[in-house]
Amino acid sequence: MNNSQVVIIGAGASGMMSAIAAAQKGASVVILEKKERPGRKIRITGKGRCNITNTKPWAHFSTHLHPNQKFLRPAFYSFSNDHTINFFEEIGVKCVVERGDRVFPQSGSATTVVDALQAKMASLGVEQHYNTPVLKVGSSNNRVDSVVTRSHTYNPGALIIATGGLSYPLTGSTGDGYKFAKSLGHSIVECWPSLTALMPKNYSTELEGVTLKNIELSLFIVKDMVQLERGDIDFTNNGIEGSLGFRVSRKAVKALINGNSCYLVINLKPAVSDSNLESRITKEIKELSSNSTTALLRKFMPKQLISTFIRDNNLPESLLNIRESYKFVIELRESLKHWKIEIVSYTSYERAVITAGGISLNEVYPKTMRSRLIENLFLSGEVLDLDGDTGGYNLQIAFSTGFRAGEEAAAYLSLKEA
Ligand SMILES: Cc1cc2nc3c(=O)[nH]c(=O)nc-3n(C[C@H](O)[C@H](O)[C@H](O)COP(=O)(O)OP(=O)(O)OC[C@H]3O[C@@H](n4cnc5c(N)ncnc54)[C@H](O)[C@@H]3O)c2cc1C
Repeated sequence: MNNSQVVIIGAGASGMMSAIAAAQKGASVVILEKKERPGRKIRITGKGRCNITNTKPWAHFSTHLHPNQKFLRPAFYSFSNDHTINFFEEIGVKCVVERGDRVFPQSGSATTVVDALQAKMASLGVEQHYNTPVLKVGSSNNRVDSVVTRSHTYNPGALIIATGGLSYPLTGSTGDGYKFAKSLGHSIVECWPSLTALMPKNYSTELEGVTLKNIELSLFIVKDMVQLERGDIDFTNNGIEGSLGFRVSRKAVKALINGNSCYLVINLKPAVSDSNLESRITKEIKELSSNSTTALLRKFMPKQLISTFIRDNNLPESLLNIRESYKFVIELRESLKHWKIEIVSYTSYERAVITAGGISLNEVYPKTMRSRLIENLFLSGEVLDLDGDTGGYNLQIAFSTGFRAGEEAAAYLSLKEA
């Protein structure tokens, strides 16, 4: 029995940051992790390189957060992207800033991030238990009073739930935190996989491996355009991915779950005006030695795209009789700028980068990450109904909310003891 301890469930990005922040404030901290080692998910972030944060100032940073940018503001100011970089440099992880203001460890390895966090926890005396799934959390009189594992029941002075979401369950995030929070009276905003691949109708394997750079991508739900983005997409064995594909997936997946139709429109030549594109098409047709539409399209896109592009846009296979046709030039210009791709499904949690939805933000104080319902409960990281785009935003959410929760849990305990 030790009700003067901060107990943390989950040794992911957020839980480890909470543990460090609480221990730095003098609290006695126990961290309980179901997997055999900490930070399983961190190890696979940024394709194994770990995009720690993003250096954009809050005004821009916040535009990459969903669904409630304002919620993160106090935590971000308390532990910002600059704090994150300084923190990691101080614990021995040199950082570099890359394209898109994304920050990575100079080592190029996510493992250095996990090792440094774990070493820092150890140096602060955090009690770390691995292979220790929490099975149940109990409460009475609006206070958490028990945290049950297979071999032990903790009576925490304060509890931080930092169990992550539902995505990549092999890393340990299997939605337990929602179950615990719900049992304590919290509402869970329905979850769905986000930052995930979108599968086009009649997807051709020929497209796999193609990357389109600097395109414009619009997302339509039913008939309304709901999002417009510029950047890159990748065609993979799972469908459309890459930074733009991921960015539109949040709304697209939600639409599909709600039973709405959804399609993407790709503008392959967003930087070229309509008239310049028409002139270019006319010139290429004139110089073409055959009547093959495929040969013409080779001038405008990677060859793997061509047969799908012809099919989706109902273009003729041969230019015979239409070489001189202005109508065809217009048709091709339209197709290059408005290639419509219907989306029929998506990759679920097993390979989604993030879980959208989660513990309702209405029930958490944004300045402290404390529950509005349970006095000694704090919540941090992806388990909350808060997520970001790709680019380092999600780990920063985990670090900012984790830091806040850790400091506030320690402060709560010292107030109780005073
Ligand atoms: C492939 C991939 C790449 C990504 N790349 C990036 C990136 O480069 N940059 C970025 O910002 N974000 C990235 N993300 C997102 C980011 O990793 C997550 O948002 C972040 O790790 C969430 O941290 P968390 O601590 O809240 O949750 P998690 O990292 O999921 O940690 C939760 C921990 O809780 C443990 N746990 C769960 N239930 C229990 C229980 N009952 N008992 C004990 N322990 C439990 C889990 O085992 C886990 O270790 C990526 C995600 C994926 C899947």
